[in-house]
Amino acid sequence: MPLSRKVLRWLFAPDPQPGRQCGGCVACCTTMRIADLEPPKPRCQHCPHEAQGCAIYPTRPNTCRMFECLWLSGRIGGDDRRRPDQLGLIFTIAQGSAGLEFLRVLEAWPGAGETARARYILDRLAQQLCFVFKRWDDPQSDTPRHELRGLGRENFTIWDTPTGFRVAQKVPGVY
Ligand code: SF4
Ligand code: SF4
Repeated sequence: MPLSRKVLRWLFAPDPQPGRQCGGCVACCTTMRIADLEPPKPRCQHCPHEAQGCAIYPTRPNTCRMFECLWLSGRIGGDDRRRPDQLGLIFTIAQGSAGLEFLRVLEAWPGAGETARARYILDRLAQQLCFVFKRWDDPQSDTPRHELRGLGRENFTIWDTPTGFRVAQKVPGVY
């Protein structure tokens, strides 16, 4: 059994968790660039429509309609303490080259990745997976925190998670 399966089961839900709702979380609203909002909203800035949710929910742009973080889709295990506005980390799947998908973790506010809980999760992930960590203060770049160096087909294998998406698993000894 690949070692990463233990990590994946620890973070990712074996079965999608039902009934998740954004509730008062607007973490992605702030973090993401919303190009089809008028005027377009840059990354890492509050959206003018943020309230206790979205103030224009019925008419929100397509970018907002289409986005679903892995917590909302029920693929992050655990309780509400892992909701992005509480944990400070937004887990997403991003498209890489050649159709590969990879895990991307966004900081939900400046320094969110430096709390003890966030660091614990990020460090455990980094022991096993290649993933992109996007710092709040790095809005223009996909620079990964741990894994860019040597990230290439020769340095990772693709692993199917229990809930269906695929992530890059680090080849032991590369880093
Ligand atoms: S980060 Fe996830 S839970 Fe929070 S508002 Fe966005 S989709 Fe909903
Ligand atoms: S329009 Fe609504 S859903 Fe979209 S970013 Fe703004 S607050 Fe969030």
